[in-house]
Amino acid sequence: MNTQGSLYIISAPSGAGKSSLVAALVKSVPQIRVSVSYTTRAKRPGEEDGVNYNFITQAEFQQMLADGAFLEHAEVFGNYYGTSEQWVNEQLASGTDIILEIDWQGAQQVRRLRPDALCIFIMPPSREALLERLKTRGQDNDEVIARRMAEAESEMAHFVEYDYLIINDEFSQALSELETIVKSQRLKVDKQQLKHEQLLQKLLS
Ligand code: GDP
Ligand code: ADP
Ligand code: 5GP
Repeated sequence: MNTQGSLYIISAPSGAGKSSLVAALVKSVPQIRVSVSYTTRAKRPGEEDGVNYNFITQAEFQQMLADGAFLEHAEVFGNYYGTSEQWVNEQLASGTDIILEIDWQGAQQVRRLRPDALCIFIMPPSREALLERLKTRGQDNDEVIARRMAEAESEMAHFVEYDYLIINDEFSQALSELETIVKSQRLKVDKQQLKHEQLLQKLLS
């Protein structure tokens, strides 16, 4: 089967539910994977190196940057984050859909390089809910939470640059909306043409 995976960018203010939704999406839909970013941020309790992030030092990050290893990178909340270009390209070439969970700065960089990327923005149902989720996640201290709340507004201001907007109020509904986007993308004529090349040849000959 001859296919090229689709590239998705998902952004949201911290705590909107992006990681939870993406984790549920990759469980429910086949042939879709999340890019594991490189970060200089400290590991949170429960996070695993190579699973949630590849945790690296500032020096290692600078080296990868100098080597041109990143498709995009950005400084968010005082930490550096970057996406491996090689991994993303290999996965897409093998026909797997890839999700980048990245901030708006990274999204702008990827969009310039890959205008075909599908960009999805996730919003919380209210400011109060966002604060509550950051607190109940229980992984950041008060100072970090205050900083993330303060930056939520500037992240959210970028939603108009995206193709799709999902409000993560009821989790199951937000998940089903996310699934709908991925499934309808797979039905686009150019994707179907590649996937069903032989069938279409037979039908049209
Ligand atoms: P969370 O969003 O609250 O779970 O916090 P994280 O520490 O996981 O992510 C912090 C910020 O970095 C978010 O805005 C992410 O979208 C962004 N981010 C994560 N990985 C990447 C990446 O590889 N590249 C870019 N540009 N941003 C990233
Ligand atoms: P992000 O990756 O955007 O920072 P998370 O996926 O870590 O956000 O979610 C933040 C917290 O909010 C988590 O504790 C998660 O379980 C919770 N959460 C996510 N979506 C919902 C929802 N629709 N309703 C209630 N809580 C949610
Ligand atoms: P957290 O530190 O809470 O895991 O992530 C904070 C923010 O960093 C989130 O908004 C997340 O989307 C963003 N982020 C995580 N990885 C990357 C990355 O590789 N590139 C960019 N640009 N942003 C990232």
